[in-house]
Amino acid sequence: MQKGLLIVISGASGTGKGTICKKILADLPEVAYSVSATTRIPRPGEIDGKDYYFLSFAEFRTWILEEKFLEYAEVYGNFYGTPLNKIEERLNRGEDILLEIDVQGALNVKEKCPEGVYIFLLPPSLEELKSRIEGRGTENPESLARRLKNAVAEIKIGLNYDYVVVNDTINSAVEQIKAILTAERLKVARNAEKFDFEGGFFE
Ligand code: ADP
Ligand code: 5GP
Repeated sequence: MQKGLLIVISGASGTGKGTICKKILADLPEVAYSVSATTRIPRPGEIDGKDYYFLSFAEFRTWILEEKFLEYAEVYGNFYGTPLNKIEERLNRGEDILLEIDVQGALNVKEKCPEGVYIFLLPPSLEELKSRIEGRGTENPESLARRLKNAVAEIKIGLNYDYVVVNDTINSAVEQIKAILTAERLKVARNAEKFDFEGGFFE
């Protein structure tokens, strides 16, 4: 059986990562979402254990000490981390796992798991990025300014990823990501067992 894909998606805050990931998960039942842990306060509608594991700083520190994270990073004054949660065993069982994490975390994961699929999502423009964050209505002016200021530096780190997708329309971005996943599953390196024709009818 083919090992599952470790899919890592990053992009500046407000680009549409959450929106795109939700659609990918709805359309592709074989892909499982890796629920991150965070110390940030839940946004309206977010559910503990589904969107994030919402932890206090003390609880987050305990998880670090107990080595429960594949990676963790500080983002905008809060901690975010990917629980190990048997990721390796799940990949070996053929499950695809989607991580929606920041650029620091993604580069750490890339060092540990170079065979993962690293996708960077770009906004069509900085103006559009600003209006998407404003439209979401979750940030105060100070936090909006901070996210926009960070966006340019974060986007440069995208040069270290394998693929780039511009989130122009949701549908086009989702279709492009599906195409990436299809191509990745067809890589020779992931299909070595298909080349074993020994024991065929000429012997
Ligand atoms: P992120 O997870 O990257 O911070 P979100 O998924 O929360 O971003 O999206 C930010 C805002 O932009 C949301 O209000 C979302 O509905 C909107 N949005 C996402 N993708 C698009 C798109 N392709 N076109 C227009 N608006 C979008
Ligand atoms: P938000 O607070 O908007 O949900 O997320 C803020 C940032 O934290 C986003 O860039 C998101 O990708 C990132 N993030 C979410 N979960 C994780 C995680 O487990 N690890 C890391 N390193 N970043 C994460």
